[in-house]
Amino acid sequence: MSPFDPVSSSAEGVAMRQNRAELKQSIARGEKRIIELFDDSENEEAPPVLRGLRVDWFLQAIPGMGVTKVERLLTELGIRPTARLGGLRIRQRTALRVQVVRLFRHYLPHLRGTLLVLVGPTAVGKGTIVSWITQNYPEFVLSVSATTRKPRRGEREGEHYYFVAESEFDRLITAGELLEWATVHESHRYGTPQAPVEDLLDQGKNVILEIDIQGARSVAKRVHGALRVFVAPPSFEELERRLAQRGTEDGTEREVRLRTAVSELAAQDECDFVVINSVVEHAGQSIVDLVFGSTHQTASKE
Ligand code: 5GP
Repeated sequence: MSPFDPVSSSAEGVAMRQNRAELKQSIARGEKRIIELFDDSENEEAPPVLRGLRVDWFLQAIPGMGVTKVERLLTELGIRPTARLGGLRIRQRTALRVQVVRLFRHYLPHLRGTLLVLVGPTAVGKGTIVSWITQNYPEFVLSVSATTRKPRRGEREGEHYYFVAESEFDRLITAGELLEWATVHESHRYGTPQAPVEDLLDQGKNVILEIDIQGARSVAKRVHGALRVFVAPPSFEELERRLAQRGTEDGTEREVRLRTAVSELAAQDECDFVVINSVVEHAGQSIVDLVFGSTHQTASKE
């Protein structure tokens, strides 16, 4: 057999180009997530067409990644353009994965979920609304914050909060592991761990942050496209009533919370939308609709 068969090699070339074009289209349409494809290619049982895909072709399937950008990236990482996805060494794979995630976030933001920041005064019912949303819409997930406050009865580590010591909270700040943090109600510190939020957004989940107004301000500065929704009570009297009825705070603590509530209510115009929580289902549905509306807007700009 001749070492070079122009007919079969050109047929192979045509098939490869076709595969690449299909891959590119399905990525752009959001049917295939490049990170999942990249991770799948490590698996020996993955389709040969995926494992055998050249690294430069794979990267060029990402909208916005042209020949030159891909070449530069691979040179920086010390990976040959002709290397196959399935044949990457561990170190190369790890380094390239970081870049694939970065490119995914940069060029395919419409495939990511929306970051929904829910702000609102104490006892307005944000927690109940969040439960309603996550129970009815599994594509919404609540981010779990870290706090220096002690757990209340019935609160579980990792579910309601990560309860951490002051020193651990300091470490999280110094290590840059928090997307935002603030001292709330004049006492304890609360913060949003960044990595889990980014991972969930990459998976296309809409991530809910239930945080105070200071945190919402920081997020607005750092995250492009975050949607800030202010949950307002029907009236201040109703808010006082809900707080008293909840009964989780003593008189002094209630006063502090109402003081924070006054300043939070004054800041509602900073948010993108205000939703009044009279009926939980209505408020929850309105918030979901706002997220879906904004996602479609983002996608249609592409
Ligand atoms: P609680 O102590 O009642 O659980 O929470 C008090 C307030 O802290 C909540 O109403 C919420 O606004 C705020 N909070 C909870 N988690 C975070 C967070 O990660 N960051 C910020 N900035 N505020 C938070």
